[in-house]
Amino acid sequence: MTFTTRFAPSPTGPLHLGHAYSAMLAHDMARAVGGTFLLRIEDIDRARSKPEWEAQIYDDLRWLGLTWSEPVIRQSDRLAVYADALDRLWDQHLLFACTCNRRDIVEAASAPQEGAPLIGPDGIVYPGTCRNTGGWTGQTPPPRPTDMALRLDVWRAQEVANGFTAPIGQNGTAYDKIAHFTETGAGPDGQTGDIAFSYAEVIETIGAVVLARRDMGTSYHLSVVLDDAAQGITDVVRGADLFEATRIHVLLQGLLGLRTPRYHHHRLIRDETGKRLAKRDDARALSKFRAEGATPDDIRRKVGLDHG
Ligand code: GLU
Ligand code: ZN
Repeated sequence: MTFTTRFAPSPTGPLHLGHAYSAMLAHDMARAVGGTFLLRIEDIDRARSKPEWEAQIYDDLRWLGLTWSEPVIRQSDRLAVYADALDRLWDQHLLFACTCNRRDIVEAASAPQEGAPLIGPDGIVYPGTCRNTGGWTGQTPPPRPTDMALRLDVWRAQEVANGFTAPIGQNGTAYDKIAHFTETGAGPDGQTGDIAFSYAEVIETIGAVVLARRDMGTSYHLSVVLDDAAQGITDVVRGADLFEATRIHVLLQGLLGLRTPRYHHHRLIRDETGKRLAKRDDARALSKFRAEGATPDDIRRKVGLDHG
């Protein structure tokens, strides 16, 4: 069995204990089976990414005793790849341009009969406002405006997946395509093994995800799927907070003709009060433990990854 995994931090702040756990776990899983451990710098958010943080990531990972295979890929070098994928989706009528701002979306999603807006792994479930005005116009390549987003037309994706064989009702039909992925870790509610979901469920609980953010030309979801494929990742190891978003990734892999890797979602490292660690919790920064004289083995113990 080949096993290639990766650690994919964003250089927007210091690595903390949660990142250390994720990186060491992925590294150890690869080493245990003679597999490959890769690194990817997720820096599409140009405003928040800083070269100093990227340099600190390499430094912290080396200090932890981790080694990775080259090349390290950086998302900011791959914007042309993302644009090309958007062109392909646009040509299949799978995208639409969305001019809504956050307020428009909140208001449309909380219309009186709808109640409070439903929040999914990509934020508020988009009510579809721009679907009829922002879609395929015969214009190719797709618009690349800086003032609007490109969203995945999940309704159209459902029709494509079903081969247009049956009219799909609001809540799907018996023919609705079921997608699958293999979970070798566990989701937040212990979900493991073969995870199956329907397109109708994605439409209802996630909605038309943004694939190209304003001013960014891509999004986390689009980039992660293309990059995992480009790096030949067989096993994605990451925090359970991304379990729900995996359905978006699997759906995109289907539409882009990419193989779905196995997924291993791991528990999140929490502070003493049970709150999950965030980038801004500088008190948990690895560099702080280093400065206080902790050793890499101390870090392993802290996150429950004892040696031997
Ligand atoms: N860049 C993401 C983060 O910092 C990780 C994405 C992933 O592993 O899929 O949380
Ligand atoms: Zn819109």
